[in-house]
Amino acid sequence: MKWRGLKAEAPRALTAHTDTLGAMVKEIKSNGRLKLTKIGGFAWNTVEGEGCTIFTRKGGSVRGSILMTKASIHVYGKEVNELKRDDDHMEVRLDARTTSLHETGVLGVNVGDFVAFDPRVETANGFLRSRHLDDKAGVACIMAAVKTLQTAQMQPTQTTYLQISNYEEVGHGASAGIPPEVVELVTVDMAAVSEGQTSDEFHATLCVKDSGGPYHHGLNQRLLELAEEYEIPHKIDIYPYYGSDGEAFWRAGGDVAVSLIGPGVDASHNYERTHMDSLMATTQWLVAYMLS
Ligand SMILES: [Zn+2]
Repeated sequence: MKWRGLKAEAPRALTAHTDTLGAMVKEIKSNGRLKLTKIGGFAWNTVEGEGCTIFTRKGGSVRGSILMTKASIHVYGKEVNELKRDDDHMEVRLDARTTSLHETGVLGVNVGDFVAFDPRVETANGFLRSRHLDDKAGVACIMAAVKTLQTAQMQPTQTTYLQISNYEEVGHGASAGIPPEVVELVTVDMAAVSEGQTSDEFHATLCVKDSGGPYHHGLNQRLLELAEEYEIPHKIDIYPYYGSDGEAFWRAGGDVAVSLIGPGVDASHNYERTHMDSLMATTQWLVAYMLS
C-alpha cells in the first residue's frame, strides 16, 4: 500500500510478515494418522501435544493434535522420553474415527493440506502469551502506528509504502513488492530474548547484525537518535540465528538502506510471549520515524 507523504523525494517502506510457522500433510499413514512436513524453522518438541487444524482442499477442516508416534508412557515406558523428535516420529492424531488411509481420505484430508497450530492466546499483567507473535506482533505495531497518524489526521513526512510479506519464515519474504523508488526500508520483526541478549519484553530493539550480516549503519544511527529524542525505551542487539524480510530484499537485489526494529519476544519459534510495553515502544518508534 502506498501512503502519500508531505514529501516524495526519498520514499520509504515499512515491512512485516503475516506468515507463521506451520506444517503440511506429507503423507497419510496406514493407521489413518498424518505425517507432516514443517513450514519454517522450528523444533518438533515446541509443538508436541499442541492442538491443530487441517484445512482440506474442499474448504473443510479437521481438528487433531500433534503427538509422538510412541506417546503413551503406559505402553512405551522410557522410550517416550528418549524417542527423537523428528519428522518420522511425530504425527497428527485426528479427532475423527479413522484407523486407515482410506478412512482419513474420506474425511477429505490430502497430501499438501496446510496444518495450523493452535496459538493458545492468553493475556495477564500486560503480557501477551501466544504462538506466532513472530511476526503478528510486528504487523500489529505497523497497523497501530498507521492508525495513530490517521487518527491525528497526520501523514508521513516522506511517501511511505506498507508491505506485508507472506513468505518470511521460509526465507524469501519481502524479496518482491518493494517499489524501486524506495530508498529506506524499516523491517519490523521480533527481537530475540534470551540469556546473552540485551533484548527484553519491555523495550523495542534495534538489531544491528544477524546471520545475514550488519544492517545499514546510517539508518540505524538515525533511528537511535529518534529513540533518544523521544525517550522511547529501546535496546541494541545482535541475533545469532536470524534472517529478515529486509535481507530477503537485499538478496533479491534491493538497493536500499535496511534497518530492523521490533518488540522483544521470549521463547521465539516456541510458545512465545511479549509485553504491551514492548509493542508500545515499537509503535512509538515507527510513528517517530514516519514523522521524521
Ligand atoms: Zn520467525
